[in-house]
Amino acid sequence: MATVENLGLSLTESKELLRKTQQVMVEKQVREFLNQCEKCRHCQKKRLSKGKHRIVYRTLFGKMDLDSPRLFYCNCEWKKESAKTKTFSPLATALQERTSPELLYLEAKFGAQISFGLSDKLLAEILPLHEEFNAATIRNHLHRIGERLESELGEDKGMYIEGCPRDWANLPRPDLPLTVGIDCGYVHSNNPKSRTEGWFEVIVGKSIKADGTAKCFGFVCGLDRKPRRRLFQVLQSQGMQMNQQITFLSDGGDTVRELQYYLNPQSEHLLDWFHINDALDRDTADGSRSGECGVKRIDIADDRECEMVSLARQRRSGIRENRRLLVFFRYGNADNKRT
Ligand SMILES: [Zn+2]
Repeated sequence: MATVENLGLSLTESKELLRKTQQVMVEKQVREFLNQCEKCRHCQKKRLSKGKHRIVYRTLFGKMDLDSPRLFYCNCEWKKESAKTKTFSPLATALQERTSPELLYLEAKFGAQISFGLSDKLLAEILPLHEEFNAATIRNHLHRIGERLESELGEDKGMYIEGCPRDWANLPRPDLPLTVGIDCGYVHSNNPKSRTEGWFEVIVGKSIKADGTAKCFGFVCGLDRKPRRRLFQVLQSQGMQMNQQITFLSDGGDTVRELQYYLNPQSEHLLDWFHINDALDRDTADGSRSGECGVKRIDIADDRECEMVSLARQRRSGIRENRRLLVFFRYGNADNKRT
């Protein structure tokens, strides 16, 4: 008897329904594909069969066991295309990657954000993936995707600025400024073998567009061979143009500073509030001041940063509230918000 307590499909029922629908659809599509391959493309003569074998194709909605026939090339094909073998398996050739792109996408998406084991459990919980799914599969697929993406990344180079001021002036009006925050940190092993082993330096960052959409990036210093290219690609994927303003916020350290230079002609480089504050705290704790800015342990690279530190000190001591500084610290880009 129908009751309102169990309206609609249950999770188990929906998984079973999806699995069966997928099975029917895939079998029909494969049948149509193989029908097209039955005849020679040149003379339309039916190709002879040399038997068949089974292949497994993993999809978002279940594992598919498919018949993959092996066919003889037609004589005319053999001559025209100088095929290296006399037979071929059209389905196995068409499905060289035995996992569907959408399943790979979800594996990569979850695997990149949570552990492989949890990704496995989560996906199997909501999709009809059953026992054929495991953490090692996700890890292997994710590594393969990572390697492919890595191979698609262009070469690293010293200069990414292209064109000249005249070219930049002819570009379409750019989006509002991008703000990029970069910081580095050290990851230490629980049981380091020595002071020099068992740790590595990681650089992470976030690029935020004026509408609030953001992209994150990260890499291990020393291991990554294309760090600047990686950051440049992130900025490009957010629609960066050579005539667009970009504000880089960082701790002023050499590693992150070198990363930001020569990516865009309109970029400005600022110390971020956290590190200014931190430096001022240490400055006060030391009880001594040095240099024009009074901050000893941050490498002050230019007059603009010096001005920022100076303004920060004024704000902290309550001497003068600086609106530009406040807006900058709160929203990330004073020039944009001020206009
Ligand atoms: Zn033929």
